[in-house]
Amino acid sequence: MAFTLPKLAYSYDALSPHISANIMELHHSKHHQTYVDKLNAALGDAPEFQDKSIEEILTNLDALPETIRTAVRNNGGGHYNHSLFWRTLSPEAGGAPKGTLFEGIKAKYGSFEAFKEQFNSAALGVFGSGWVWLLPNYSITTTPNQDSPLSRDNITPLLGLDVWEHAYYLDYKNKRPEYVAAWWNVIDWSEVTKK
Ligand code: MN
Repeated sequence: MAFTLPKLAYSYDALSPHISANIMELHHSKHHQTYVDKLNAALGDAPEFQDKSIEEILTNLDALPETIRTAVRNNGGGHYNHSLFWRTLSPEAGGAPKGTLFEGIKAKYGSFEAFKEQFNSAALGVFGSGWVWLLPNYSITTTPNQDSPLSRDNITPLLGLDVWEHAYYLDYKNKRPEYVAAWWNVIDWSEVTKK
């Protein structure tokens, strides 16, 4: 059973003006599709892994044949990370989380605004391509390339922000801070807290 590109729960133009239809279409139908295609190609020679979930594969990369491990790490990581990214975005979104997540963030950072500032700093601090993550213990962490807390530490992140240039260059050119600021407006916090 080959991996497939997940359908979005919203149209490509739904997140505009924060993330444009052009970016969404390129990012989903080209970049994410390419990760899926290359993941399937890499696993073509390893049928024993084809029925595993992407989470199972990424948490046990050492089990893969060495010849395909890097390709699966990068492209399987790309598939997992982008699937999570799309799921936590919505046009009816933004603001702050509710309930336990809000209270946990407030307890750790003092306020939701202080948390946002730290998350933004982490996003701007990623050199080159990578991701910023919110973990279940409300810590913020970053990973290079298409690594994630799942592949690195076997921890399922609550939320991830793609800071690869392909995620924002068409809209924001080199201005990553503007993209990060816009992203807060399209986070679907109800999806973030879903188990
Ligand atoms: Mn991306």
